[in-house]
Amino acid sequence: MKRLALVMTIGLLALVAAAAQSRRPAGTTHTGKAFRFNQVKPGIYHAVGTGSLAVVGNSSFIVNDDDVIVVDDHVSPAAAWVLLEEIKTVTNKPVRTVINTHFHFDHAHGNQIFDPTVQIIGHEFTRRMLLNNSTGMPLYQNYLTGMPTQIEGLKKQIASATDPAAKAKLQTQLQVTENNLASQKELKPTPPNTTLTTQMALFRGKREIQVRFLGRGHTAGDVVVYLPNEKVVMTGDFLTAGLSNMSDSFPNEWADSLDALKKLDFDTVLPGHGDAFTDKAKIEYFQAYLRDVWSDVSRLKQQGVSAEDASKRADLTKHKGHLPIQGPGVPLIGVQRIYSLIDGKP
Ligand SMILES: [Zn+2]
Repeated sequence: MKRLALVMTIGLLALVAAAAQSRRPAGTTHTGKAFRFNQVKPGIYHAVGTGSLAVVGNSSFIVNDDDVIVVDDHVSPAAAWVLLEEIKTVTNKPVRTVINTHFHFDHAHGNQIFDPTVQIIGHEFTRRMLLNNSTGMPLYQNYLTGMPTQIEGLKKQIASATDPAAKAKLQTQLQVTENNLASQKELKPTPPNTTLTTQMALFRGKREIQVRFLGRGHTAGDVVVYLPNEKVVMTGDFLTAGLSNMSDSFPNEWADSLDALKKLDFDTVLPGHGDAFTDKAKIEYFQAYLRDVWSDVSRLKQQGVSAEDASKRADLTKHKGHLPIQGPGVPLIGVQRIYSLIDGKP
């Protein structure tokens, strides 16, 4: 009788273990920590990828008295799942709220791993995009379709690598890409279940967390997360530490929308790409760049230059003192976007 009970207990434990394991998404077989957490103010963290797992964009999280708020959830269900696992090393409070700064795949493709009781907040445009065709957009399509070629290329490089250190580095890159592809195959774009159009605020104890739409810029529906008491702002790709992708942007309105950001009282920026920074002058550098991109590219269009050629000829090198610019040229996807905006068909 005792023996039977023991066998049954072991069986039950195995079942429980199997159930727990099945919740683990594909693409999480990485080595070491996936994130570096930078605590910028008490309870406020910026999460930046270490390179052991593809996470692409940064996230942030706010540890409150009773819960945790996550801002952006990375490129895949795997990346978001691992983020939650690693947050458990900081706090055992539950994540009850997620905020998407915008719909782009590297900021919102982790949404599906959250329990339906978790509130996912985003601009109504973000919801519309994730409900409809966000994965059909060129930015994601280019990213996804490039992965198998990347994997093949890495395998060839590994086969011919002779230096052990170089080979090990390539093997990590291969594992990262294969994990990412495995997770993208499980992707089910999941929209925010709570939307806003201009502004909302969450209150957690003494903490106020504002979600604000400051005008069209990086997309038609970027929001920033602003903590007025702590003077911290999480900006997604509306303002990054370097340049921001322009594929779905309104470059001719973006600089003005950034003026609205400047009016907020903050001292620390947690961007969607790159490290946290305190230098507010970065906003002005980026505004100047955006204004010049718009005027240079529209002048080339007026001269009848093709988007491909304009992408090579537009010369923004005068901004390279402040922004990561290697030489002349603007990414084609941004130039194509400006061309279609001028033609009135974004
Ligand atoms: Zn983006």
